[in-house]
Amino acid sequence: MVSHPDNVRIAIKTGAEQTELRSYAWPELGDDEGMLRIEACGVGGAEPEVYRAGDKWAPVAMGHQIVGSIAAMGEKARRMWKVAPGERVVIQEYLPCKICQWCLKGEYRFCPDADFFGGANPRRYGLIDPTQAPHLVGGFAEYIHLPWNTVFHKIPQDLPAELATLAIPIGNGVQWATLDVNAGPGKTVLIIGPGQQGLGAVLGARDAGAARIILAGMTRDQARLDLALELGADHAINVEQEPLLEGLARILGPAGGLDVVVDTTGDPGGGNMDQYLQRVNYGAWLWVNAMDRGVPVRIIKQKYLTVRSGRGRSWWAVDTALRIITSRRFPLEKMCTHIFSLEEVDLAIKATAGREVAGAIHCIVDPWR
Ligand SMILES: [Zn+2]
Repeated sequence: MVSHPDNVRIAIKTGAEQTELRSYAWPELGDDEGMLRIEACGVGGAEPEVYRAGDKWAPVAMGHQIVGSIAAMGEKARRMWKVAPGERVVIQEYLPCKICQWCLKGEYRFCPDADFFGGANPRRYGLIDPTQAPHLVGGFAEYIHLPWNTVFHKIPQDLPAELATLAIPIGNGVQWATLDVNAGPGKTVLIIGPGQQGLGAVLGARDAGAARIILAGMTRDQARLDLALELGADHAINVEQEPLLEGLARILGPAGGLDVVVDTTGDPGGGNMDQYLQRVNYGAWLWVNAMDRGVPVRIIKQKYLTVRSGRGRSWWAVDTALRIITSRRFPLEKMCTHIFSLEEVDLAIKATAGREVAGAIHCIVDPWR
């Protein structure tokens, strides 16, 4: 077994936008448990929201885009997980029951134990209170404890850790654009919001063979819009320079329409929805947010639309994302704009929200930096 330190450092959110570095003893491991030496942990697009919340998520061990190598494991864990000490993996945040109907289909996101909507304390990395042993339950740390029900994806030994952290946001994009709303061959796809998930949706749609991919964003997103053209988007619209409907009219012509829309923004008030509904084809598939708005049943009926919204991602979506990443077909290193140390977790989360650091797309915490 690989030797290990006596104590492990971990960044804990202790209050609204407050982080504290703590040190916990290396835990006693059961036969069906293990420890992962974290190489890198990406900051999720939704993590600034968790970070801003006051008492609701505090104390909490944040960080769930986790890449590392197996540092220790019991014999039973080795048989169950089919990984060996030293092997590299991406782990998903869900800590599911593994026997319910959803778990058996790889849809851990819907497992009652891990479902964000299912109860007050969903079991998923990034949202766990570290007060109880084994304490090391978040990704902004040197090591993380692996319980029996950890969800793994093996990765190649030569895949840079920064790229591997993209498995989760690109997995989201694959899920949302292709598995949820069928962006694929022959389809004209509009993706709104060029954050890490929106860029992931571009990659997913391109990988799935979409005919035409249009990405919309704002002036502050210009670098991301430019990068999207290298990641497979055919057109990028800066809606502050050219209103969305004018941009779509220019690209689609007077008669063309959208087959798929993926709105990765919150779309407060439904302003995006008001616009894209004017350009959708009959039979289009929509991935909507706009939670403040009622469901537009009249136009859904008129245009025979199918509507979905986002609920995390399946095992297969991350598996597909890792295939896209390891193919090295796209300059994904350009998405990994900033690497921070464990002492800088506060700044890494703020940078992800576009604060204090300019130009961040995907921020990564390297605990050994
Ligand atoms: Zn389950």
